[in-house]
Amino acid sequence: METGPGDAGPVVIALDVGGTGMKCALVRPDGSVVHAERHPTGAERGPDAVVDTILDVADGLAGKARADGHTPRAVGIAVPGVIDEAAGMAVWSANVGFRDVPLRDLAVARLGLPTALGHDVRAGGLAEARLGAGRGTAHVLFVAIGTGIAAAHVVDGSAAVGAHGAAGEIGHILVRPCGPRCGCGRTGCLEAMASAAAIGRRYAELAGVPGSTAAQVAERAVAGEELAREVWTSAVEALADGLATGQALFDVQAIVLGGGLVRAGRHLLDPLRSALRERMTFHREPRLVAATLGDEAGCLGAALLALDALENR
Ligand SMILES: [Zn+2]
Repeated sequence: METGPGDAGPVVIALDVGGTGMKCALVRPDGSVVHAERHPTGAERGPDAVVDTILDVADGLAGKARADGHTPRAVGIAVPGVIDEAAGMAVWSANVGFRDVPLRDLAVARLGLPTALGHDVRAGGLAEARLGAGRGTAHVLFVAIGTGIAAAHVVDGSAAVGAHGAAGEIGHILVRPCGPRCGCGRTGCLEAMASAAAIGRRYAELAGVPGSTAAQVAERAVAGEELAREVWTSAVEALADGLATGQALFDVQAIVLGGGLVRAGRHLLDPLRSALRERMTFHREPRLVAATLGDEAGCLGAALLALDALENR
């Protein structure tokens, strides 16, 4: 990117819009963050208000960049749901309420900068593959396990989008035909068995302890509580089934696990690695590692989308 006379260098404006909060940053072309800020999404105000906030925050970041002597060159915005990246359209989102919002064009009109729109988990996967745990690896499957489960398949630093903007929905692989009902309406999806929310819910039901969390289940399992161990193990087994399917489809070198559940560290990774190994026949076993960028991955991925958009112009 060009550097203007006397300025502190070019930056891109990056926003990762989640159901509750937005992570935002000014990022240099080398991926280093020069400024970061967070804002509430305020999804309860409705999608139009969220769009206004996104544009206000992006505009504010452009002003901040200029005030600090940087030159903002492009904008990257990552949002959840179904995204038509080619059209720059937020097609559908359960938690933010987007329905066919032309977010890229709105940002271009407001900021006058080239803008890329992407999917939050694919952006996170892109960042982990290029800057985080998958750095130096050509074929990476990033799997985010939190309230739900979703994945990004990244090959040579680019995440597959799918024909309809909905690639990577690994959480809705059927792993237990008679299992619990999933948010998507079907029964037995991976997400309904092994998301952090599902683990907490399952334990709460069986133990009669409302409001239990996956972190508490992990702690109790480590402490040797039998019921917690059963719930944890059945989630790990379901995850191994889902990841084995992922490996059969994608044949990656590394599976990078992100999201809240990975805070369980080796209590998740060690048994999951063994269970996955048991499921490998002729497939090569992928390296199973924890994500390293934490909850900044989506924002850094949005910055990468902006940088890629500049390069491809
Ligand atoms: Zn489902």
